[in-house]
Amino acid sequence: MTLIRSWVETANDPDCPFPLNNLPYGVFSTAGTKPRCGVAIGDQVLDVTALERAGLLHLGDTPLLDRAAWNPLMAAGPVVWNRLRTILFGHLAEGAGTRDQIEAHLHPLSAATLHLPFNVTEYTDFYAGRQHAENMGSIMRGSPDLPANWLHIPIGYNGRASSVVVSGTPIHRPLGQTKSPDADAPTLGPTKRLDIELEMGAIVGTSSPFGAPITTETADAMIFGYVLLNDWSARDIQGWEYQPLGPFQGKAFGTSISPWIVTAAALEPFRTSVPERVKPLLPYLTESKPGLYDISLQVLMQPEGAKTATVVSETNYSRMYYSAAQQLTHHALGGCGMRTGDLLGSGTISGPNKSEYGSLMEMSWAGREPFTLDTGETRSFIEDGDTLTLRGAAKGSGYTIGFGDCTGKILPAKRNPFVG
Ligand code: CA
Repeated sequence: MTLIRSWVETANDPDCPFPLNNLPYGVFSTAGTKPRCGVAIGDQVLDVTALERAGLLHLGDTPLLDRAAWNPLMAAGPVVWNRLRTILFGHLAEGAGTRDQIEAHLHPLSAATLHLPFNVTEYTDFYAGRQHAENMGSIMRGSPDLPANWLHIPIGYNGRASSVVVSGTPIHRPLGQTKSPDADAPTLGPTKRLDIELEMGAIVGTSSPFGAPITTETADAMIFGYVLLNDWSARDIQGWEYQPLGPFQGKAFGTSISPWIVTAAALEPFRTSVPERVKPLLPYLTESKPGLYDISLQVLMQPEGAKTATVVSETNYSRMYYSAAQQLTHHALGGCGMRTGDLLGSGTISGPNKSEYGSLMEMSWAGREPFTLDTGETRSFIEDGDTLTLRGAAKGSGYTIGFGDCTGKILPAKRNPFVG
């Protein structure tokens, strides 16, 4: 696939994250206006809510873009998804006859505030990166051996949709119970081991009914698009609470997502297979087409007052062991209905080298090996005032599919009368 040229000149730059090939979906507002649906093109955002109202974008008998969320369009299914993409291509391609009418609905991205692009219905987080699972085994249990279920099941837990926030939302250092190994009793206080998890989020478009398992083919077709996802984690809180039921407060204080939904259609040229199976999967999890995407990923860390951010990790989504379609298939296996707006976290993405680890827990090996930033400061975990940013890009021939930054700054813990 090569660059599809647009009359929005900035979209034709090979490094621009939003060429015509991408057309990611967000929700934006400008000064004094309400949030509405927008599509990024070059350095502009196209107000598609206004286009639909003006009759320049006809998707069906009822409006699908009149709310500050993409859920109605997502629920409408792949035929309508393709119709919208085709109409947008027609309006934005080089030589389009409607240019004058469309141009009136463009706004500079630099003047736009971005909001959550969809209403998150439910949030499930997986643990599907093999290197990450092996690293965590080595750190926590002294052995990289995977749990007995790991090579057979994409394991996960049900998180909280209410804790999902859009990039740019500051996160307060959470309070929680922790207990050091030599203490008799736990104490309440701010986490001392605040961490990130570099993940991709898959967004369910069309729903599946309660009581009805799905195939991997159906699951793949249900996925509307992807975002970058930072599953902020409090390792000390998690370490005390997680046995035997798994993550709870250590994961419930914030999950940041990038502001643009990059559609599965835009990512189609970048499909790549899951790694070779170590053990055969049960047949219901086998895939008929490659389920991952070649998306390069970066983590950047910037302390308060530092002029530049340090790249602390670089890896690729193709490192995952399970695809989002496999995770969705397994999720619905027992009859769990999946709904429009469900968000599936991939699990932390780590590659085999230390420079490819997707959490600070791994980068600093639980604090035993602090790492150095470009400013000369060292870090094991996140300190107050640090800003963490995830970036992702799929590189085509002469174009880039970008996601927009997934960023968040850590603020000090809020005061609490029970903390001395
Ligand atoms: Ca996670």
